[in-house]
Amino acid sequence: MGPMAGGRARYDSLISLYRWAATPYYLSLIDWSDPDDPVRRQCIPDLKEITFCLDGSEDDPLEEERHMPVPHLIHRYGDRALLLATGICATYCRHCNRKRFWASRPRVINRRALNAVIGYLSDHPGIREVIVSGGDPLTMGSTHIDRILSALRTVKHLEVIRMGSRVPVVMPMRITRRLCRVLARYRPLWLNTHFNHPREITREAELACNMLQRHGIPVSNQTVLLKGINDNKEIIKGLFCRLQAIMVRPYYLFHCDAVRGTDHFRTGLHKGIGIMKALLGNIGGMCLPTLVVDLPGGGGKVPLTPDYLIRMDRDEAVFRNHEGRIVRYKSPWGADHPG
Ligand SMILES: *Cc1c(COP(=O)(O)O)cnc(C)c1O
Ligand code: SF4
Repeated sequence: MGPMAGGRARYDSLISLYRWAATPYYLSLIDWSDPDDPVRRQCIPDLKEITFCLDGSEDDPLEEERHMPVPHLIHRYGDRALLLATGICATYCRHCNRKRFWASRPRVINRRALNAVIGYLSDHPGIREVIVSGGDPLTMGSTHIDRILSALRTVKHLEVIRMGSRVPVVMPMRITRRLCRVLARYRPLWLNTHFNHPREITREAELACNMLQRHGIPVSNQTVLLKGINDNKEIIKGLFCRLQAIMVRPYYLFHCDAVRGTDHFRTGLHKGIGIMKALLGNIGGMCLPTLVVDLPGGGGKVPLTPDYLIRMDRDEAVFRNHEGRIVRYKSPWGADHPG
């Protein structure tokens, strides 16, 4: 049976709910002889997206819609806000936690909506960072990107801009000198990208990241822990070490959220903690991101760490170190509570 074994109609209904596009470059990384190829599984639609559902999964478990004071802007954490600049991506990741938008026609922010966003940001002096996200903001033309970033820079209290983009991974040739020069005008500007597997770190991807870095734009990375793709300590270790080698700092490792249409990628919470436990102390701290879970009900991101501190009393703290050895630490209260 071929890939259409589920019936053409079922694929049609899958695509009408969760659209499909991928760049020729990203598709070229696939080993088609392997049905579980990690690039293939991230970008080729799977009927499980509409047939496999675990308890608790929702379209918008992070309740982003509830935190949108104006269209296109999510303001959930006090000092930073997230701008949904476009609904378009170069490749639609099957594990995306904003899949709920895909059924409707993708929109790019227009001048009027941008003005409303700038108005809101100007009225909220507590916001010091804006994350330009989407969709993928680097799918927009450089002129449009320029317009958005220069509008953001009219907000006097805004200190830092962060771009969230998967373009270095799925369309590295989009990182041109012209684009880098535009971005460099709006520093401090960080670019946070999304590598999930060492196979994605190609020569092209490395050159794209290096071009950004040479223009003074630090590149960091968030990874989503995905069942059958990277939920294994050797793959994650390889990924994080390779990222460090191309000078991309691992920032977050996300537990895969309970988002409808992505349940077949979800691992148990223990999986990420176990992987971090295997890596902490065994590879350098600069290779290691923070493992986080974004809680349902709009609970926000919380870090997950293996337990090193077993017990802490007034006179003694007891640790278990990365080798499993028990270590006692005297006077943990230090000079804060002498005597
Ligand atoms: C993740 C996220 C941010 C950024 O949080 P950091 O911990 O600074 O990376 C901001 N806004 C929203 C809505 C987010 O989901
Ligand atoms: S690039 Fe980002 S927003 Fe676009 S599909 Fe992938 S994870 Fe979702």
